Amino acid sequence: MLDIKAIRQDFPILTQTVNGKPLVYFDNAATAQKPRVVEEAIVKYYETINANIHRGVHTLSQLATDAYEEARKKVQTHMNAKHDYEVLFTAGTTFGINLVASGFGSLLKAGDEVLISAMEHHSNIVPWQFACERSGATLKVIPMNQNGELIMEEFDKLLTPNTKVVAVTHISNALGTINPIKEIIEKAHKVGAAVLIDGAQATPHIKPDVQDLDCDFYVFSGHKVCGPTGTGVLYGKEEWLNKLPPYQGGGEMIKTVTFEKTTYACLPHKFEAGTPNIAGGIVLGVALDYLNEVGFDNIAAYEHELLEYGTKRLSEIEGLKIIGTAKEKTSVISFNLEGIHPYDVGVIVDKLGVAVRTGHHCTQPIMDFFGIPGTIRASFSFYNTKEEIDVLVEAVKKAQMMLA
Ligand SMILES: *Cc1c(COP(=O)(O)O)cnc(C)c1O
Repeated sequence: MLDIKAIRQDFPILTQTVNGKPLVYFDNAATAQKPRVVEEAIVKYYETINANIHRGVHTLSQLATDAYEEARKKVQTHMNAKHDYEVLFTAGTTFGINLVASGFGSLLKAGDEVLISAMEHHSNIVPWQFACERSGATLKVIPMNQNGELIMEEFDKLLTPNTKVVAVTHISNALGTINPIKEIIEKAHKVGAAVLIDGAQATPHIKPDVQDLDCDFYVFSGHKVCGPTGTGVLYGKEEWLNKLPPYQGGGEMIKTVTFEKTTYACLPHKFEAGTPNIAGGIVLGVALDYLNEVGFDNIAAYEHELLEYGTKRLSEIEGLKIIGTAKEKTSVISFNLEGIHPYDVGVIVDKLGVAVRTGHHCTQPIMDFFGIPGTIRASFSFYNTKEEIDVLVEAVKKAQMMLA
């Protein structure tokens, strides 16, 4: 099992005090903290091989290019993609979904349907609304039940030969629900739809196997897997990446340019216009190495322990209601205190050193569904402890007393 004490020493930020109290960082679903190896790799890149990639013949440029392409291969191995050129580096999940949805905005037509779910993050809703507005296609929504689980019978009914895209989240950032994406992908393929999986919330906990899942697109953010902000990955099946038009025009993504006509570069460069976040891509590879060393099986088992402990301890608080009680859940606990606004709780527990998120978590339709303005969300990572959950519980009790 994991040596949590040793792991915590890898994360310099965790030794801080906040407002005079030891930091308890439970906002991991918003962004993860960075291990020292990640910080050091950023410095090392800029101090040793910083140069622009793919174009230079000089030594540093070649070293930087090799490191960047090696990182792509690392991601390929991590996700079990068939080809390294099916792995595109992006600025994050939002960028990746926009790239795909924008492409479909050109491919879809009136009468076509795009299916998303009731528990999507705004970044897997709004780009599809753009695509539907542009193309005349219709957006449909797979509903969920009171536990925050997708209603699969309704999904079956919504799937028709008009369904061209199904875009769903692997794990809900607001509820913690793990969706049955393999079943969703299989069923969507039966009607010929392409499937995009929003893996932003899953990748910190689960190692995705895109060939086993057979998804057409899988996106995630570097900063949620202990990597730098402004980095991310879009996996796309070769045939789909060839079908989609380029997203941005510029340097790097072209083969030939004249004022009359431009031809595009091959994959992955067709979708990587301009100078990318070179250090970011390289260091994202370092972050994935770190997580793989800790081991995703170990991470999942330990985080499940934290989830069970946190659920039990928080449930002991009178007037506390957990939002999101799916059978399959990751270590995210959203909750509310009867008669108290989530924001007020967030402010008070912060004074006690506890970082939680409050609000709608970029999922306003979920809040509307439950008829609430927002939730308090505690999300646990493998570097958190049960003792920290005890601190949270005491802080929440204190907030409840002060606000009642
Ligand atoms: C965080 C998150 C996003 C957005 O990711 P960015 O890094 O902000 O682009 C999208 N979907 C889910 C499920 C998320 O948790």
